[in-house]
Amino acid sequence: MIQTATVTCPYCWERVELSVDPSAGDQDYVEDCPVCCQPMLLHLRVGARGRARLEAERENG
Ligand SMILES: [Zn+2]
Repeated sequence: MIQTATVTCPYCWERVELSVDPSAGDQDYVEDCPVCCQPMLLHLRVGARGRARLEAERENG
């Protein structure tokens, strides 16, 4: 079950919409920002009723 989640890029501060798959549970992964192409470190957290929450930070501190 794919959802979309909105996250603020930690490099360019654009709000970007990404596809997430909460059926796989909590995940940490890297995905390039579609705006500035920098590698965002993403933290997907799946809450009650399968609602996904996504947070982003810079990959290299
Ligand atoms: Zn960006």
